[in-house]
Amino acid sequence: MSFVVPAIPQATVKVEGTTDLFPVHRIYCVGRNYAEHAREMGHDPDREPPFFFCKPADAVVANDSQIPYPLATDNLHHEIEQVVAIGKAGVNIPAAQALDYVYGYAVGIDLTRRDLQGVAKKMARPWDSGKAFDNAAPCSAIRPASEIGHPDSGRVWLAVNGDVRQEGDLNQLIWSVPEIIEYCSGLWELQPGDLIMTGTPAGVGAIERGDRITGGVEGIGEIKVQVG
Ligand code: MN
Repeated sequence: MSFVVPAIPQATVKVEGTTDLFPVHRIYCVGRNYAEHAREMGHDPDREPPFFFCKPADAVVANDSQIPYPLATDNLHHEIEQVVAIGKAGVNIPAAQALDYVYGYAVGIDLTRRDLQGVAKKMARPWDSGKAFDNAAPCSAIRPASEIGHPDSGRVWLAVNGDVRQEGDLNQLIWSVPEIIEYCSGLWELQPGDLIMTGTPAGVGAIERGDRITGGVEGIGEIKVQVG
């Protein structure tokens, strides 16, 4: 047997401090999971259950990469996020057992073509063009939970050319990581290799060509990318 077109290599994320790789299966993202960000996007954070959208596995970009400014947008936004790396399969996982399914954590950027997302919202269309494009998921190396535990507080920040634009704390998540896993695994069977981006704090904004983006989540790590 052979492939009839070239087979794209498995998308991976490094494991910090090792030569090991985490094979990326799917990327789930939680929308509006910090109250201040929900408000800045014009929503009431108190009355909305968590919702999810996806990015393709091969949208992951390694830490310290230079990525091209994306196609078809004039308003590329940064969203710094804690990323959960799932280590084993499960469906309908209760929150109380959810952390057993976590391999580790990373720092990601949910890059967003905000103009295309805006059109999609206005016309009640899917968000894929705004969220699921090439290179849309820069992700730091993963830190295993066996080393760092399960951080549920700690500063979340992002800077553009050294100016801090986003700041929040993991303890401000509307839906906690165990609750996210419970909801997500009720919609899809989670698999080893899945990544979950847990939402972004307030302060999202535009990235210009040539900008240096740095960010981090206290207790997990840091990420940097340059765009354009
Ligand atoms: Mn996001």
